Amino acid sequence: LTRSVLILGAGAAAAAAALALTRDRGLSVTVLDIGETLPPVNRDAQQRLSIARRDEWSEADLRTVTEQPAANSIGGLPEKRTYGSAYPFQDVGQRAGLTALDEANEAVVSGAYGGFTNVWGAQLMPFTAATFRDWPVSSADMGPAYAAILNEIPLAGEEDDLADLFPLLAPSKPLPPLSERTRQVLHRYDRYRPRLNRRGVSVGRARLALDSRSCVRCGLCMTGCPYSLIYSAAHTLTRLQQSQQITYHRGLLVSRIEEHDDGVTVLAREIGGTAFHRFTADRAFVACGAIGSTRLVMGSLELFDEPVSVAESTQFVLPFLSARPVPDPRAADDFTLNQFNMVVDLDGGHDVSQLHFYNYNPAFLDNLPAVLRRDRAEPVRRSVLRRLTVALGYLPSWAAPTFELTARKPADSCSLPDLELTAGPAGFRSNRFLRQVLGRVTAVAPALDLWPALPVLSMSKPGKSYHWGATFPHTTRPNGPFSSDVLGRVGGWRRVHMVDAAVFPTVPATTFTLTIMANAYRIADTVRRELSSP
Ligand SMILES: Cc1cc2nc3c(=O)[nH]c(=O)nc-3n(C[C@H](O)[C@H](O)[C@H](O)COP(=O)(O)OP(=O)(O)OC[C@H]3O[C@@H](n4cnc5c(N)ncnc54)[C@H](O)[C@@H]3O)c2cc1C
Ligand code: SF4
Repeated sequence: LTRSVLILGAGAAAAAAALALTRDRGLSVTVLDIGETLPPVNRDAQQRLSIARRDEWSEADLRTVTEQPAANSIGGLPEKRTYGSAYPFQDVGQRAGLTALDEANEAVVSGAYGGFTNVWGAQLMPFTAATFRDWPVSSADMGPAYAAILNEIPLAGEEDDLADLFPLLAPSKPLPPLSERTRQVLHRYDRYRPRLNRRGVSVGRARLALDSRSCVRCGLCMTGCPYSLIYSAAHTLTRLQQSQQITYHRGLLVSRIEEHDDGVTVLAREIGGTAFHRFTADRAFVACGAIGSTRLVMGSLELFDEPVSVAESTQFVLPFLSARPVPDPRAADDFTLNQFNMVVDLDGGHDVSQLHFYNYNPAFLDNLPAVLRRDRAEPVRRSVLRRLTVALGYLPSWAAPTFELTARKPADSCSLPDLELTAGPAGFRSNRFLRQVLGRVTAVAPALDLWPALPVLSMSKPGKSYHWGATFPHTTRPNGPFSSDVLGRVGGWRRVHMVDAAVFPTVPATTFTLTIMANAYRIADTVRRELSSP
C-alpha cells in the first residue's frame, strides 16, 4: 500500500519538508498551494534578461523588472517588489476576513509559490547554540537538518569572527567582490578587533543564499536578480516537480483540516471560485507561513475568541554615516544585498542582536528627506550617499513587543475563520534591550567610522519584520491548546504536523528562515522514518 502525505503551502518550510519526505521514493508527496506566480509580462522580460549578457539587456525589459519598493499604508520600510511585481504580497483571497488593527502589517500571509522567499534578503545563518537552551530541541538535534538544508541551498559566505556564534556548517563560496565601504569597515574591524570584542561586538561578512560565482554585480538584487542567482524555495519545489518526486496543485486555498483514525482529510477551495476539493492522506504538514498556519489550525480546532500571542523579533531601521567618504556609489558596480553584519552579544550567545548593513541601492534615493531629493541638492546628496549605509537590526522576541491573533467562528465550517491582528503599545525608546544595543553600537562608532543616526532610528510596525511565530511553541509537556509537541502536533492530533515558525518556542534576533527550514526538515524526516518502518 502506498503511503501518502500532504504538504500545505509552498514556501520555505514546505520546501524543506518536501526535501526530507522525498528521501523515501515509496512515499506519495502532494503539495497544495495558493500558488501565485510572476505575471506573464514580467516573467517574459526576466526570461529574456536571463539568457542575455549584461551588455545586451534591453532598456525596456530592465524598466519592467526594476520597479522600486512601494510605500504601504503603515509607513516604515517600503514594500519590496520582485521583477516589477508585488505578487508575493498580493491578496488573492487568503487575507479575506483578516483585519490588522493598531497600524499592524496586514500583508502577513503570502499566496505565492515560494512564499516570501521570492522577496527575501537571502540572509542565511543558523541560530546560536545558546538559543536552543529555551527549546526542547537541542542544537545537536538540529545539526544534521541544518546540514541537509545547506546542501540544497547555494551558500555564499566566509569563515570569520561571526562563525564563533554562527558556524558555517557547510562548504561555502566567497561572496562577490565587496563594496569600498564594506572593505573599509572590515579593515577597521580587523585593526580594532580586541577593543570591539571587549564590548561584545563583532563584525563579519554577510552569509547569503546566493550562487555568487555567476554574479555580474549589476546591482539589481533588491528588485530581482535577472539570472535568478538568489535562492527561492520555488527553486527546490520546481526541481522536485521536474524530477517527479512531488505532485503540485496550485490555485487552492486550504481552509480546513480534519484528522480521523486512519488518516487526514484536507478541504481546499479554488482560488477565485466556489468549488471545494477534498484530499486525504496518512499525514499532513502545515506550512502556510506562521500566521497562515495558525489561522488554519485555529479554525480546524475551533479555537475561537481566544487570543493567541505572536512572538516577533521586532525590526529597527538605523542609518549610519561615515566621516570618510567612498567614491559615489551610484557609479559603482556592486551587489546590493546585505554585505556585512554587526553582532552585539550581551551575554555569551543568547541575548544577541544582529544588524544587517546595506550599502547604496536605488531605493535609498526615494527615501532621502525631501530636501535632499531636489535637483539643486545634488552636491549635498552626493556627499550624503558617499557616507551612508543603512542597517536593519532586530530585537529577540523575549525583549520585544508581541502582537495577538484572535479567530472568530466562520459562517460555515468549510471556511477559514475571520482573524483579528492586534498589537499593544510598543514604546520602543524605553526598550532596555534596544538601549543596550544602541549603547554598544555608539561606543564602537569611532573605531569603525560608522556613526549611528540615532534621531532617525525607526521601529517597524507590528508584523513588519517578517520574523514572527511561536503561536504553538514546541514543548515537551503540552499545556493548553496553544502548544505543540516536538513534531509540531497540536490539540491532540497525531497525524497533522505544523512545520513553520508557528512552532518555534522563541524568535531570536538573528536570521530566521534557515532555522524554519531546518526545523521543518527535522520534523518531516522523523515522520518519514516512522512511516518507512514496518
Ligand atoms: C522583504 C522580506 C525580506 C526577508 N528577508 C529575510 C532574510 O534575509 N533572511 C531570512 O531568514 N528571512 C527573511 N525573510 C523572512 C522569510 O521570507 C520567511 O521567514 C519565510 O519565507 C517563511 O517561510 P514559510 O514557508 O514559513 O512561509 P511563507 O514564505 O509565507 O510561505 C507560505 C506558503 O503557504 C502558501 N499558503 C498560505 N496560506 C495558504 C492556504 N490557506 N492554503 C494553501 N496555501 C497557502 C503560500 O502560497 C506560500 O506558498 C524576509 C521576508 C520578507 C518579506
Ligand atoms: S548583482 Fe545581484 S542581481 Fe546582479 S547578478 Fe549579482 S546577485 Fe544577481
